[in-house]
Amino acid sequence: MSKTGPKLFLLACAISCAAYAQDTPTERQAAKGVIEKLNTLEQSLDIKGLVAKLTAPNKERDKVVARAKQLMDTDMIALGDQITRDPEIGFKEDHAVHTLTTRLKQYGFEPEIGIADLRTAFIAKYKRKTPIAGDAGPHLGVILEYDALRGTKGAFHGDQHSTQGPIGMAAAIAIAEYLDQNKLPGTVTVFGTPGEEMMPPVAKTDMFKAGVFNGIDVMMRSHAVSATVRPAAGFGTCCLNIDGVRYTFSGAPAHQMTPWAGRNALEAVIHLFNNIDSIRGFIRPEARIQGIISEGGAAPNVVPDRAVADFYVRYPDEVYLRQVKKFVDDAAKAAALSTGTKVKIDNYGELRDGISVATLAEPAFAYMKMYGATNILEEPGKPQGYDETGTVSSAIPGIGFEAQTSTAANHTYQMEAEALTDIGHKGFMTDAQSMAALLFDVATRPDYLQLVKKEFAGIKGLFSEYQADLEKAYTEPVVPEPK
Ligand SMILES: [Zn+2]
Repeated sequence: MSKTGPKLFLLACAISCAAYAQDTPTERQAAKGVIEKLNTLEQSLDIKGLVAKLTAPNKERDKVVARAKQLMDTDMIALGDQITRDPEIGFKEDHAVHTLTTRLKQYGFEPEIGIADLRTAFIAKYKRKTPIAGDAGPHLGVILEYDALRGTKGAFHGDQHSTQGPIGMAAAIAIAEYLDQNKLPGTVTVFGTPGEEMMPPVAKTDMFKAGVFNGIDVMMRSHAVSATVRPAAGFGTCCLNIDGVRYTFSGAPAHQMTPWAGRNALEAVIHLFNNIDSIRGFIRPEARIQGIISEGGAAPNVVPDRAVADFYVRYPDEVYLRQVKKFVDDAAKAAALSTGTKVKIDNYGELRDGISVATLAEPAFAYMKMYGATNILEEPGKPQGYDETGTVSSAIPGIGFEAQTSTAANHTYQMEAEALTDIGHKGFMTDAQSMAALLFDVATRPDYLQLVKKEFAGIKGLFSEYQADLEKAYTEPVVPEPK
């Protein structure tokens, strides 16, 4: 009893905690009905029974997991170390792409490099030796990443993306070989997605829009982390919905002594920052607006005729974010107007809520524990998609494996260092084995895949309902014409 007690509590929490996905009182109010329906949906799925069924002893699954482990031991861990020692920032990951695709070829995948106008993006589909008639699914997808962070001392792998490729490859190769050897239906495709830490461009969104992920039934990915976690079921994002926007002002140059002969673009940027500060007092307090001046003129004795400011505008939901963004755009237009300059608004990227499903997250979590995960957070985390853009994770069901791979926080030199040590290697192994196990379940249990799709479709519908409720919640005042 003492064993099942806490489990029951946690499971109840996995469901009822969904309410905490909403960050603001307005959001919680708008989500009330939706959360109730979400709870009903989750309860109908018998997640506990599902986890017990999937994680029960299974010799076939063990074979796939053992192959993934062997690949990690003999090849992939070393490959990850190699990439860790050769960090390349987003969209310049040429060595990593060459290394990963060369290896994928050796294991029977057919890589295509340069996807959706992104030089360092790739797709590689496994070529079966025992072809299956027609286009029989399931179609399994694995996302690989490999970009390093931009640091003051140069590029570094402080987020351990370096071994994400090898982890995903070990799992993908293991399940692809298994399906092929046993003449079971299914396809396995890996997606090399560059520049996770950078935008523009938003690589996964561009790839999604180009149709690269079309037809994939379930997507998997891993990410480095300092505690073993999984998200609760629902919709959300780790770090608010974000609009990336660049304001480019153009003026006219003139001598410092006769500034009236020119128009000062830097002055316009300074107005923009001040205008934004004046907005902060009367927009909802959860908004985060932060910018930098990336160009501000060339010399003090010339009136700057060009200046550029780059902003991330964030809000917990995308519905009110639209209002915040309009305030910021208007602040830029007002800045231009008051300085006699002109402004160009370039919306270069957005990150949105994704969807997480318990039918994937709970078995994934159970497998991570089974395969040796450490520093386990029993409480499910906030609902969020498995990809940071929200684009892919709100369209295709999937899961990101996050077993502890470091004692340090993300984006640190210590996390980079630990990618090469035991704690990193152990966590990477856990991720690879767990991913292989869950890929096996999705590939070999059609009823399970149907259940995942049912939950995903249910949450997706509820997410739309929630957005519609928010539209009603965020009314705007009527401002009459002055008399
Ligand atoms: Zn990352």
